[in-house]
Amino acid sequence: MANTHTDRYLENNKQYASGQAAHKAGYPGKLPIAPAKNVAVVACMDARIDVEDLLGLQTGDAHIIRNAGGVVNDDAIRCLIISHHLLNTNEIILIHHTRCGMLAFTDDLLKAGLEGDPAAEKLLGQATGRKFTSCKKSASMPAAFNAFRGPLEPLDAARSARQTERLEWDVRRGMSAILNHPWIPTTGPDAVTVRGFIYDVDTGKLEEVNYPGPTGSIG
Ligand SMILES: [Zn+2]
Repeated sequence: MANTHTDRYLENNKQYASGQAAHKAGYPGKLPIAPAKNVAVVACMDARIDVEDLLGLQTGDAHIIRNAGGVVNDDAIRCLIISHHLLNTNEIILIHHTRCGMLAFTDDLLKAGLEGDPAAEKLLGQATGRKFTSCKKSASMPAAFNAFRGPLEPLDAARSARQTERLEWDVRRGMSAILNHPWIPTTGPDAVTVRGFIYDVDTGKLEEVNYPGPTGSIG
């Protein structure tokens, strides 16, 4: 299937990684509400990622949904359903990235630290290089932080085979969440396509994650 816009953005990314951004800054004038290229991007909030630049998106081309990790959580699904059914997007691009902060903690560790566990406070302080100050209160929200599965790495650790594997697991988890959602059609005339990528913050390059593929083992 020809995912023409996504493929075009992958070409833009090669240019970006070689120092030539295709994204043009400046107010482009009045535009329609629906994304011109029918694309929706889900990406991490990491400060080193400029989604418009790395894909060569122009203003008005795409919806960009960002959160910690670029995880496909309840709110990302909410946005994608609105994006597709009301605003006509049909190509979804999911982007995780190397050195992501979501590799450096677990949900249990962060919750314990926030609730006042001294051992968790100490570990979180060591992992981030800043003093972790517990709020010493319990909370029921957020229900999850969606930290990535697998053995913890120091914050901003350089890419390794294990890190790539952990990122791929979570990209596949997100793709699965989208592809199996009953309100996101993946067959028929109204079908949506989904492609997942790892962005390397050291090179500026996107690498596609094959799907389906391994989703991790507890061993
Ligand atoms: Zn990240």
